[in-house]
Amino acid sequence: MKIFDAHCDLLDKMNLHAELSFKQDSIYADVSFPRLNKAGVAVQCFAVFVSNRPHVSFTQLLEAFDTFHNRIASHEGVRHIRSKADLTEAEASGKLGAILTLEGADGLEGSLVNLRTAFAMGVRMLGLTWNYANWAADGVLEPRNGGFTLKGKKLIEECTKLGLILDVSHLSDKGFWELAELSSAPFCASHSNVRKLCPHPRNLTDEMIQVLIARKAVMGLTFVPWFIKASEPAIKDILTHLDHVAALGGREHVGFGSDFDGVDYHIPGLEHAGNYDRLANEIYRRYSAEDAEGVLYGNWRRFMSENLPG
Ligand SMILES: [Zn+2]
Repeated sequence: MKIFDAHCDLLDKMNLHAELSFKQDSIYADVSFPRLNKAGVAVQCFAVFVSNRPHVSFTQLLEAFDTFHNRIASHEGVRHIRSKADLTEAEASGKLGAILTLEGADGLEGSLVNLRTAFAMGVRMLGLTWNYANWAADGVLEPRNGGFTLKGKKLIEECTKLGLILDVSHLSDKGFWELAELSSAPFCASHSNVRKLCPHPRNLTDEMIQVLIARKAVMGLTFVPWFIKASEPAIKDILTHLDHVAALGGREHVGFGSDFDGVDYHIPGLEHAGNYDRLANEIYRRYSAEDAEGVLYGNWRRFMSENLPG
């Protein structure tokens, strides 16, 4: 059993707490190397997240990239994935593949030079916004529900040129539809659920899910309790979201993006990354082995192998 997880916020915690080690379990973090290993996580995306700080700067991004390189990617059991070849080599070596991602363009400070520097440092997926407006676009909780700024449109172009994958989780509805129109490159949703089942603006409408499917992209279902169900969400309710995307024709276009270390509350049984196998076992019980393998690993794997640089 192998798992690909498209979003966690461990890096944010590691930046705030210098004593947190990736090598050891901690009561202060959900994700650790031993827990990922135990649960069968083969590829983990690590998001840099500074967008909620009062003064966001590119220096903060550089510090977070440094944390990723020095405290995660340098671990002997980890292979940093920057390219298709790295992904194949991570699989062949049995090491944990680690992908560096950025949640919110805020810290790029409107600069394409900063964007290219971030790419050179290994960032391979960019969430355009967090919940609010930034220089590039509006997030889902920005009341005016705007789309992209002129600079944001240039950012889309540059990402397409670089081969940096765009991520629509947290992006406003208007932003989603503008991106669909402006970009022919595939984009994904690293950690979002189904709005029809749980009407939170962070979740995707069926029409949005259909666009992701048509573009051969992937949406990562997330374990954030209030994006799953309004009251008493359980592991089985994540499967309801999975069933819904599958019924829309998305069986090959859905995976997971846990958001471990991004929220303080968890659904019972999925308190940390070491329990991921409990969800995986449920999926193997409900779906064919082939579909379960795809949902847990193969769908994201295919998307990355098609869209990471060569
Ligand atoms: Zn998030």
